[in-house]
Amino acid sequence: MTVDLSKFVASIQDYPEEGITFRDISPLMADGQAYRQATEQIVKFAKEKGVEMIVGPEARGFIVGCPVAYELGVGFAPARKKGKLPRETVRADYTLEYGGVESLYLHKDAVKPGQKVLITDDLLATGGTIRATIDLIEQLGGIVVGCAFIIELQDLKGREKIKDYDTLVLMEY
Ligand code: IMP
Repeated sequence: MTVDLSKFVASIQDYPEEGITFRDISPLMADGQAYRQATEQIVKFAKEKGVEMIVGPEARGFIVGCPVAYELGVGFAPARKKGKLPRETVRADYTLEYGGVESLYLHKDAVKPGQKVLITDDLLATGGTIRATIDLIEQLGGIVVGCAFIIELQDLKGREKIKDYDTLVLMEY
């Protein structure tokens, strides 16, 4: 039996700013069956792509990617904000959905040259976060074979930034 994953997404009006509707996947993560179902869909996609490594941006990219990595028996590397990774890193900058510039970092040994990498995150909005994560992996010589999200906010056109990459989205708004 499958569940309707959209029933496990909470929509919060005017958060974090007026005019924004925030989509919250924490009810999905809190339900064992829904979390497993979402994970299994991403695992199937990852198997088709021959994924050897998963990278997820802070912090919900970890929640989506780690169970997939566990199921595949591959590694997971976190892409993190400034000051969080203790060893040598590469860096990529991006513009935030609600304004401002942010940077993401990845340990230099997180991805091996030629390794097939899947990127996971909870949500695709403007695409800045995923684009920065792709840049980090490519700086290290990794091959991004796919991007997987629980949710895509279509109006924000993030897909245009990743049109050269195979992308799986479980729900669209
Ligand atoms: P982007 O960089 O504009 O594509 O924004 C995507 C990133 O911001 C992801 O890492 C999300 O976790 C976060 N984000 C943006 N909007 C939302 C939302 O409505 N719900 C949950 N996360 C969001």
